[in-house]
Amino acid sequence: MIVVCNSDPDWRRNGMSDMWSTVLDDIRTQVRPEAFNTWFRPLNCKLEENDNVIVTVPEDFYLSWFQDNYGGFLSDVIREHLGSMPNLEFKHLREASDRAPFVNSYETCLDNKYTFDTFVAGDSNRFAHAAAMGVANNPGDSYNPLFIYAKVGLGKTHLMHAIGCEIQKRRPEARVRYVTCETFVNDVVQMLTDGRNADGFRTMYRDSCDVLLVDDIQFLGGKEKSQIEFFNVFNALYGMRKQIVLACDRYPRDIPQLEQRLQSRFQWGLVVDIDQPDLETRIAILQTKARAQQLDLPQDVAMLIATHIKSNVRELEGALTRLRAYLELTNSELTMDSVRLALGNLLVEGNNRLTVERIIQTVANYYSVSVKEMKGTARKRSIATPRHVAMYLAKTLTEASYPTLGERFGGRDHTTVLSAVQKIERLCRADQNEIAVDVERLSEILDE
Ligand code: ADP
Ligand code: MG
Repeated sequence: MIVVCNSDPDWRRNGMSDMWSTVLDDIRTQVRPEAFNTWFRPLNCKLEENDNVIVTVPEDFYLSWFQDNYGGFLSDVIREHLGSMPNLEFKHLREASDRAPFVNSYETCLDNKYTFDTFVAGDSNRFAHAAAMGVANNPGDSYNPLFIYAKVGLGKTHLMHAIGCEIQKRRPEARVRYVTCETFVNDVVQMLTDGRNADGFRTMYRDSCDVLLVDDIQFLGGKEKSQIEFFNVFNALYGMRKQIVLACDRYPRDIPQLEQRLQSRFQWGLVVDIDQPDLETRIAILQTKARAQQLDLPQDVAMLIATHIKSNVRELEGALTRLRAYLELTNSELTMDSVRLALGNLLVEGNNRLTVERIIQTVANYYSVSVKEMKGTARKRSIATPRHVAMYLAKTLTEASYPTLGERFGGRDHTTVLSAVQKIERLCRADQNEIAVDVERLSEILDE
């Protein structure tokens, strides 16, 4: 610790906060914006009676890094404003006597709509729900990492936000970072293409992160560089007992092309799954969502909807939205009949019969391309592959002939469809092929 007497009268006259804000303004012009936001914005500064300058940092680990990298720089800037060498003393928030309110400048990306309050627990998700609450109560302590897996639309993302929001509520100073795997991968790519961002990346995911929630981690499959970076992030956070929560559409072992060491780490803590909700839970979810929209849903209506829409909570919500829109637009009363009219074929038995159109739509959603692109002429791999997969699935799962399929896929020749189907057949026979895994997963989705 550097102890130098501070005797500048301006400091006392104008108050420390004035001095501190000019110091910050000055620093802002000298460091990159990410560095400023991460390292300087969260600092608090106070002049003590004994003339020491107390700098409050949010966390322990932050402290040593800050001292090593910016300590000298900060003293220099303060000295310029002070006219003499300051006596800086660093403390982290928890031991600082006055517990100055810590302004969390940190982007968390948490969605307050998704909390434990709005999550309906039932048999299908009871274990995952309990584990999530456990983690929110004792982050980094009990189950690390928590790995939640389930098919689409069953509440993984909801639970992750709930964990994040709860931790944030209990510990406002905690830096909770929720990202989708895609964001993580993009950040890795950006870091690797622009070396200057390495610090920013490290700060964001390691040094200045207390809780890391990564959604849809299956997208790490096949991305080697991102896997290496994630491995490092994982080890660093785990070593500091920072909570990690991962959501995935399948069990760790079943993520294609994922390094063994990551597979095993994903299972170090607790692995929980969420199943399709049973009828009672579906009704309870519908009632909760309806109440949130100020819609009074009679029991028989909830029952009608919940008996017909089974596989996925998102579809239940969709039905509710459609019902609401119908009632508003047609000015109708909510009765069993209006529900039947509003939801029409959603309620018809066997509405799940597979059509070519539905296959194209499902495959397009899966790969995040548009139906128009699927039927269009672009030959980019990112579009051609989904198109070929859809052709293959349509051929194997419906009765449609090659010429009909050609027609449905934007008026193509039947030989084009034939060669696409053969190509995917070949890939499906190959071992360890990413496309084969996609095809299997898509068949499951279409089977639901
Ligand atoms: P996933 O990430 O597993 O695909 P989401 O978490 O996005 O699914 O859930 C889809 C929708 O269903 C969200 O709007 C979410 O709020 C809702 N949902 C899922 N499970 C529940 C539940 N148990 N209680 C309340 N809402 C739920
Ligand atoms: Mg999700």
